[in-house]
Amino acid sequence: MTKPISIGVSACLLGYRVRYDGGQRHDPYITDILGRLFSFVPICPEVECGMPTPREAMRLEGNPAAPRLLTRRTLIDRTGQMLAFCSLKTRELEHENLCGFIFKERSPSCGLTTVPLYNSGVSGLFTAGLFAKEVAGCFPLIPLEEAENLKNPDIRENFIERVFLYSNQHRFGNDLS
Ligand code: SF4
Repeated sequence: MTKPISIGVSACLLGYRVRYDGGQRHDPYITDILGRLFSFVPICPEVECGMPTPREAMRLEGNPAAPRLLTRRTLIDRTGQMLAFCSLKTRELEHENLCGFIFKERSPSCGLTTVPLYNSGVSGLFTAGLFAKEVAGCFPLIPLEEAENLKNPDIRENFIERVFLYSNQHRFGNDLS
């Protein structure tokens, strides 16, 4: 029997109660529709790097090339804790044969392009969350998308096609010549 195609998903989108406020962001399109096509590897970088639930909300601050992950009220720097996790987790994911990844938008850990970057408390640019940036850097060919974008029929069709294409290339040794 052919193994199902695996994609990584921010765990809160699958209904896991891992958000900073103890809640989740279950996305029925992902679980009910994409769940018929793919198997999911749920990942919550904030919980898996050792943070409790609930926890103080965080934000990205500072240099766009190397933003810091700070708690919003107490300004505790969690950057090192998160980056150490990201490095370990991406090495672990090399063995999962992921063919795609769906990220929760706007999260300072999981957002792909939509995370506000603050400078001295003021938001200006938008950037990637620390975990999403690490995944994109380690797996540059894997299709990546934010959940909110999958509400657009063209984008979600394109994402599904790219996942199948990546899966075919991956399983047949990348030989499309
Ligand atoms: S967005 Fe990412 S870090 Fe935040 S709760 Fe969801 S899975 Fe965890």
